[in-house]
Amino acid sequence: MYGLSPADLDLQARARAFVDTLIPYEVEAELHAGELPPAVLADQRRRVRELGLYATNMPAELGGGGCSMLQQVLVQEQVGRATNALGWIVHTPPSWFPPVATPDQVERYLRPTVAGDTQECYAITEEGAGSDVDAIMATARRDGDAYVLNGVKWHVTSYNDAGYAFFQAKLTEGLHAGEHALFIVDLPSPGVRVVRTPLYSHSISHHHPIVAFEDVRVSAANLVGSEGGGMAFSYEWFRYERMMVAARCLGAADRLITEATAFARERIVEGQPLIEFQAIEIMLADSVTELFAARSMTYEAARGVDAGIDLKVQHAQCSMAKLYASEMAGRVADRAVQVFGGRGYMRENVAERFFRELRVERIWEGTSEVQRQIVAQQLAKRGLRALV
Ligand SMILES: Cc1cc2nc3c(=O)[nH]c(=O)nc-3n(C[C@H](O)[C@H](O)[C@H](O)COP(=O)(O)OP(=O)(O)OC[C@H]3O[C@@H](n4cnc5c(N)ncnc54)[C@H](O)[C@@H]3O)c2cc1C
Repeated sequence: MYGLSPADLDLQARARAFVDTLIPYEVEAELHAGELPPAVLADQRRRVRELGLYATNMPAELGGGGCSMLQQVLVQEQVGRATNALGWIVHTPPSWFPPVATPDQVERYLRPTVAGDTQECYAITEEGAGSDVDAIMATARRDGDAYVLNGVKWHVTSYNDAGYAFFQAKLTEGLHAGEHALFIVDLPSPGVRVVRTPLYSHSISHHHPIVAFEDVRVSAANLVGSEGGGMAFSYEWFRYERMMVAARCLGAADRLITEATAFARERIVEGQPLIEFQAIEIMLADSVTELFAARSMTYEAARGVDAGIDLKVQHAQCSMAKLYASEMAGRVADRAVQVFGGRGYMRENVAERFFRELRVERIWEGTSEVQRQIVAQQLAKRGLRALV
């Protein structure tokens, strides 16, 4: 099915087998704020590298997997089958970075990241700037051979594990005053402080604190690309991450349908397996149908990226895949809770966990409303034939 090559199928099987070893730890993670014992984590970290599943999106010359977009989707689809973000150990560093990184940035940040010795986090969103990234208030002022950064960033995912942050700000002066620029800030650095670490719906070990950057000095060598180029990197990362969100939602839906079907076969009500009741059949059938549609769409969109189709069309197709797959997965989780009945409301049940965890897939990396806006704008500009 899907015309996958032997290499694709091998990678998919490796990722599936690895994620199968994570799933038994889900309930323990759920009950301990996402944390697993250090020895278990160390073993998972070792195996993910041995299996060639780490940094699949990075170029082979930097030590990454050099995988096609379709192959990355296949891996992240498997990652999505585990709850509590246990699959995030299959890390994908910033794929937009290698073409623009200076030799110094390659050595100091990229190579160690691909090797798994450090990790990045993103500090872009602010209290008054999320969907509308251009509304950020964070500033960058040039001072000799350094920049001075100021701003308060929200939802900085994985800050607690990160060795450095990408910090997006607007330049206060010079030729590009008012335009965006992206900087690398080492963590910890003087002037960087956690304001607070809010709790979220999911129980994962990656925190999303609010972080204040107060007169943080970074060397000019930590500017990514050029002044005024900040937004371009964010757009590229959004495009990539939207595809990966779609992929993980496919995996989540696959797991939910598999588990709900197994339960519906075993549970006997009025002398009959649950799966023989039409009301249950409808929920499962709708779920499988929508998964098939979402998977076909996501794989096709990934193939388009690999074929190098027009960038704006890629952008719209990644948005469509993210929009449809995330909404599909939310519906599937809701139905799965219903199929499990009271068990589906227990935190030890996979459907309960996914029901909470999948909600954010419609929010981060651009909300569903923003994805619809992107698709509609591209439709108006390019017409239907260009998009589908
Ligand atoms: C768990 C989590 C982790 C995150 N991790 C990171 C991270 O690591 N780094 C980072 O920088 N950010 C991160 N974010 C931020 C995330 O990208 C934003 O939350 C998201 O882009 C939405 O922005 P917002 O929260 O400001 O919502 P708003 O922009 O305030 O949106 C509120 C509502 O208005 C709607 N809306 C907004 N604009 C429009 C429009 N033009 N038309 C119609 N409706 C609109 C939205 O769809 C939404 O329903 C994270 C968020 C969460 C929840």
